[in-house]
Amino acid sequence: MLHVIMGPPAAGKSTFVREHAAEGDIIIDLDHIANVLAGKPIDNHEHTGDVLAVAKAARQAAIDTALTREVTVWLIHTNPSPKQRADYEKHGAEFHTIDPGKQTVMARCKAERPHGSAIAAAQWYDEHKPKRRGARQRGYTHHAHDVPRKRLLLAMRDGEPCWWCGLPMHKDKRRNWDGQALAADHSNAHGAKNGEKPDRLLHSRCNSQRQDGRYDDRRPALTGKHPSEPLAPQVGAQTPQHGQQDGDAAAFVWK
Ligand SMILES: [Zn+2]
Repeated sequence: MLHVIMGPPAAGKSTFVREHAAEGDIIIDLDHIANVLAGKPIDNHEHTGDVLAVAKAARQAAIDTALTREVTVWLIHTNPSPKQRADYEKHGAEFHTIDPGKQTVMARCKAERPHGSAIAAAQWYDEHKPKRRGARQRGYTHHAHDVPRKRLLLAMRDGEPCWWCGLPMHKDKRRNWDGQALAADHSNAHGAKNGEKPDRLLHSRCNSQRQDGRYDDRRPALTGKHPSEPLAPQVGAQTPQHGQQDGDAAAFVWK
C-alpha cells in the first residue's frame, strides 16, 4: 500500500506519518534523506542544490524498490508533478492532503522554517486553491472530524494529561499507554449526536472506555487505577459491562 502525503511546507506531514505509520512501514521523506546525506540534524529544512539533487535520486530509488515489495509505504511529497501523480495512482496510491489552513502554515513557516518556505507555501496555496474542492470530493482529504482533531493535536502540548486516565498524551502514538493515536472526544458525551465538534483529545482506549459518559465519575484519573484495569466499582451500583461499546464515543476513535 502506497500512501502519498501532500501539502504545503510546515503543514504537519511528518507528524501525520509519525502518527499513522506502523512498525515495519517504510517512510520516504526527501527532507530526511537530504539531512542524512548532508549530515544535518533531522529537523533541518535547508538543503543545497547538490544535496537536493542527490536526495531526489535516492528518493526515486527508494520508491522504486519499495513498490516492488509487500510493504506499506508513506511517501511525503509536497507537490508531485502530474506525471509522478499518475505513477503513484498506477500503484493504487492513497493520497492525503495535509492542510491546516493558510494562516497557520504561513505563521509556522515564518517562525520555524528557512527563508523561502513561506514563498513555497504561498505558491502551494496559489496552485491548489481552484483544485482543492475537487480533491476533497475525490476523497483525498479526511473525514469531517479529522479537521477538529487536527486542530486539537496542533494546540496540544505533548505530555498533557488525559482527562480520563491522567496519564500523559503524546502525538507519537508509540509513547501512549495504549500504543494508539489520540482520539477526539466530546466533553459533552452526547455532543457527537448533536453535531457538536469534538473539543478535546483522549487516549484512544480511554475514549472507548468512556462510552456515553455514564462512568465519568469513576474514571481512572479520579480513582487512581490504571486505564488498562477494570473501572472501580461504584458503591451500590452494578458492575459496568465492558464488552459493549456504544456508539458515539467509539465512533470518534481515529482509525
Ligand atoms: Zn487516557
